[in-house]
Parts: sequence; C-alpha cells; structure tokens
Amino acid sequence: MKIAILPGDGIGPEIIEQAVKVLNTLGEKFEMETAPVGGAGYEAYGHPLPEGTLKLAKEADAVLFGAVGDWKYDQLVRDLRPEQAILGLRKNLSLFANLRPAILYAELAGASTLKPEVVSGLDILIVRELTGDIYFGQPRGVRICPDGPFKGEREGFDTMRYAETEIRRIAHVAFQAARKRSKRLTSVDKANVLETFQFWKDIVTDVHKEYPEVTLDHMYVDNAAMQLVRAPKKFDVMVTGNMFGDILSDAAAMLTGSIGMLPSASLDAHNKGLYEPSHGSAPDIAGKGIANPLATILSTAMMLRYSLNKAEQADRIEIAVKKVLTQGLRTPDIYEAGATKVGTSQMGDAVVKALM
Ligand code: NAD
Repeated sequence: MKIAILPGDGIGPEIIEQAVKVLNTLGEKFEMETAPVGGAGYEAYGHPLPEGTLKLAKEADAVLFGAVGDWKYDQLVRDLRPEQAILGLRKNLSLFANLRPAILYAELAGASTLKPEVVSGLDILIVRELTGDIYFGQPRGVRICPDGPFKGEREGFDTMRYAETEIRRIAHVAFQAARKRSKRLTSVDKANVLETFQFWKDIVTDVHKEYPEVTLDHMYVDNAAMQLVRAPKKFDVMVTGNMFGDILSDAAAMLTGSIGMLPSASLDAHNKGLYEPSHGSAPDIAGKGIANPLATILSTAMMLRYSLNKAEQADRIEIAVKKVLTQGLRTPDIYEAGATKVGTSQMGDAVVKALM
C-alpha cells in the first residue's frame, strides 16, 4: 500500500511527522513517499502543485496531506498561491465526497462554546459534495447587467448547478455512511427557493429507495444551521451540496471547540482518498512546537478505514487518542486548568505509547 505524504506549509510538516510516527507503530508495511505541496511546492518547483507531486498523488492508494498556505504568498497571482494545490488535487483525483466528522470527546466538553449538556457526546458526520455547485458552475464573472432594475450596471454572477450523477453519487456515499452508523440521514437543501435544490431533494429521495433501512429526512439549510447550535445531537449523518456543506461543516467543527481535533476525508468513487486535518497551516504558531497533531493523527485513522481497508488499525488509533485525552494530556489549544500541557511532538509520542 502506497501512501503519498504531502506535509505542505506552516504547521503541516510538524503535524505530519507525528502521524507518520503513528503509522510506523502499527506493525503494517506501508510504502510512504513524501513530496512538496503548496508554498513548499512553489519554493521547490515554482508551482504549488508540482507535476511530480501530482503524479505521486495519482499513483498512491491514499494521500496524507498536512496543510498549505502562508501570508507571505498573498501577493502571488491566484494560480500560484498555495491553496490552489488542494483545489488541484481535488479536481485531478475526482475527490467529490468530503467526510467531516465532528466529535466532542467527553474529556473536552468544556472546550465548546455551547453548554456541555447540549454538546457532550456529540458525534455527527457531515458529507459535503466537493466538486460541483455554485463554486464550479459556469458561466460566472462580472458583466454588464442585461435586464431588471439594475440594467446597464456592472454585476457579479455565479451559476448554481448539479447534474443528476453528481447528486446520486454523493447520496450513495451518505446513505452508505449512515448505514454503518445509526441509520439516520438528513439531506440539507434550499428546495423552497432554489430549483437546483428541489432537484437535489428529488434525486436523494429516489436514491433512498435503495437504502430502506436508513431513515431519511430533509431540512432547509437555514433551519439546519439553527438546529446545529440548538440541538446538534439530533443529527447523525448530514448530506449537502458544496456551498451549504462548506458553511455547515465549519459551524459543526466549532461546536467541538477545537479545530485541532477534527479530521477529514475526501474520497473518489473508488474510495481512494485525500486525508487532512480540517484546519489550515496556522502560520501564527508554525515552528513553535505547540500545534495539536490529533486532527492529523485522526485523519490517518480515517485513511486506514476508508482507503486502506484496515478498520481495526483505525479503531486502535482512535482508542489511543481517547486514552491520551483521558490521561489529561493537552496541547495549548485544548488546555484547561488541571491538565498536563504538552507540545506537538510529546502528544505524538503519547499516542505512539498508547498504541504499544
Ligand atoms: P487556520 O486553521 O490555519 O488557523 C486558525 C486558528 O486556529 C489559528 O489561530 C491557528 O493557530 C489555530 N490552529 C489551527 N490549527 C491548529 C492546530 N492543529 N493546533 C493548534 N491551533 C491550531 O486558518 P487561517 O489562519 O484562516 O489560515 C491560515 C492559512 O491556512 C491560510 O493561508 C489559509 O489559506 C490556509 N488554509 C489551508 C487549508 C488547507 O490546507 N486545507 C485550510 C484552511 C486554511
């Protein structure tokens, strides 16, 4: 099994180092090859997604990705900015399904901004469509407004669209994920206003016929946003489009109080995937040895489960992470009085020890 390791920028290399330590402790044989991406790719080869890096990602069975971006690249033209690497990888590898669990470990209940009784024990999964919707729809741009009360003025416009295949394949991913969990799926749309999302709702309802054991309900996105902060534990698996998913998954992430704890997976139709923490490259703390590596370590567990067919090893890692939290070890982002403050590398070592 070949894993492409793309550490990237900022805290990327520090957190990936901990995940690799964990992979090396499992007693499995993985072929791992590292390549530069993002700002590191630009420095080495003049492009955020160098050809060699893309080739490696295509050949590998899975990609473990740190994070990209740094303010020092803000002046570059858009195509050369580090963040283009992640968009390029999603597109080139056809990674259309983004899976983002939001789990609040009981030990960290105090880290959430919501009351512990509302969020303690939270365990939801957001399935976001990643390669369609208004983010990619054509035409788009700035033009002279052709009609209506603002005719003749400049206007910005984008196009929201979803093909039937795009909706069907993300719906299958979501139903299959729900089937493995509590068998409840909420499809989030805006069918009351948008044609695209009435179509979405119809197709998801049709796909449901193939999964009679899963209970499906539909919710408008504005209500879903409200319910996420009112009673988040009501949800189990949520499926939605690219833009709604972008917003809701960040809101769900913050319910848990710490972006440093949340993994993510982006999958293609054959369960090949790119795995990365939900956070960015955190340039403000890069090189200080204080970044939380647990989101990346938990992303490694998702990689073992979804792409490498090693569910038992994934369980082992998740249990080890719980164990270090129970031991009271905390990086500064999740620190509370009375806990033991540790750095990035110490946290990685503690997970390794808990695995042995
Ligand atoms: P960020 O997620 O990097 O950081 C937000 C805040 O969270 C910062 O205060 C940071 O110190 C903290 N933080 C993030 N991860 C942490 C961790 N593991 N441990 C402890 N604290 C952590 O978001 P940002 O500051 O908006 O963006 C920084 C850079 O990252 C930008 O260049 C942005 O474009 C990029 N970015 C990249 C990705 C990606 O690689 N997929 C995603 C989001 C942002």
